[in-house]
Amino acid sequence: MSDYYDVLGISKGASPEEVKKAYRKMALKYHPDKNQGDEDASKKFKEISEAYEVLSDENKRKTYDQFGKEGVRGSGMGGGPGFSSMEEALRTFMGAFGGGGGGPGGGSIFDSFFGFEGGNESSYARQGASKKIQIVISFDEAAKGAQKEAVITNYANCEKCEGSGAASKSDLKTCSTCNGSGQLQQTRGFFSMTSTCPNCHGSGTMIAKPCSSCHGSGKQKKKQTVKIQIPPGIDSGMRMKMGGYGDAGENGGPPGDLYVYVQVKPHEVFKREGDDVILALPVSLVEATLGTKKEIPTPLGSTYRMTIPEGTQPGKVLRVKGQGFPNVHGNGTGDLLVHVQVETPVNLSSEQKEILRSFAETEKPQNSPQTRSFFDKLKSFF
Ligand SMILES: [Zn+2]
Ligand SMILES: [Zn+2]
Repeated sequence: MSDYYDVLGISKGASPEEVKKAYRKMALKYHPDKNQGDEDASKKFKEISEAYEVLSDENKRKTYDQFGKEGVRGSGMGGGPGFSSMEEALRTFMGAFGGGGGGPGGGSIFDSFFGFEGGNESSYARQGASKKIQIVISFDEAAKGAQKEAVITNYANCEKCEGSGAASKSDLKTCSTCNGSGQLQQTRGFFSMTSTCPNCHGSGTMIAKPCSSCHGSGKQKKKQTVKIQIPPGIDSGMRMKMGGYGDAGENGGPPGDLYVYVQVKPHEVFKREGDDVILALPVSLVEATLGTKKEIPTPLGSTYRMTIPEGTQPGKVLRVKGQGFPNVHGNGTGDLLVHVQVETPVNLSSEQKEILRSFAETEKPQNSPQTRSFFDKLKSFF
């Protein structure tokens, strides 16, 4: 067992404010609600609560400084060696946040830290934690849809005690502090406040003998393989929610959800733009000039016979309706946009060059309307 000052990370001369500040910070970090099923965190939480209980009390602190832990225990630290139970630690926690004495109080502050819905009945039933995973799929799988599997580890209800945390049904006792309601009613001046019972932590029950399998947490880690249905048309950055595949809920609350983040691998020739798909199609100068037909692939794996009209210019976009990606929400199908890239011929033989030269001799202004209009515009400058 380490020194109380070390446990809270403060110096021997720390002021009462510093003690409180240090404890609050650490208590929030190691609180069992934020570290479900984490044995180390709950041990740490008890340890810092014990240290705070002593160092926040002027008399106990003096005794401790003089005689160490033995001295404090002798002066009535609740009997046992340190904080044996989580209940004691939680009581200290409530005290530190309530501003009042060591008694129950400050439920509202506590609530705001952990997002409890303090103040109304049956508020303790809470949804389990949600999980997120990422899966990477191919372009093809995104187009057609796919079924994937993922292994996830969740906190499920303990099979032995069915989530109660008690060794048997008779070891589950009604909490004596709140008589089983899980709530405490307090009156402060004109206000009546309801706060979560610090003794049972809102569940209304206490465990006399913890379950040997889960040590009272009611939870156990469970590995499972889940099947993930990828709808056709999904895109990178989209998120799928699989309801109920997260951690088990608390006190009858619903389980958390599993969020699947999807990443689609890029394709070698296709590029996605929403539901439309872009295909850059190289055609030769002669094909673009005289027109041609080309077999092109579509994102869904078929081929389409594409007509390149006579006189197609570089950069021309030809739209093939309904050959893009299916919309992920089922709203129709995108288009395939064919971007024509005219390739200037290279590595010509002298014979080929000769043919082009004699072609050039036959060229007329109307063969190159863009060139003509460009030079017409230039002329107006001079
Ligand atoms: Zn209670
Ligand atoms: Zn159990």
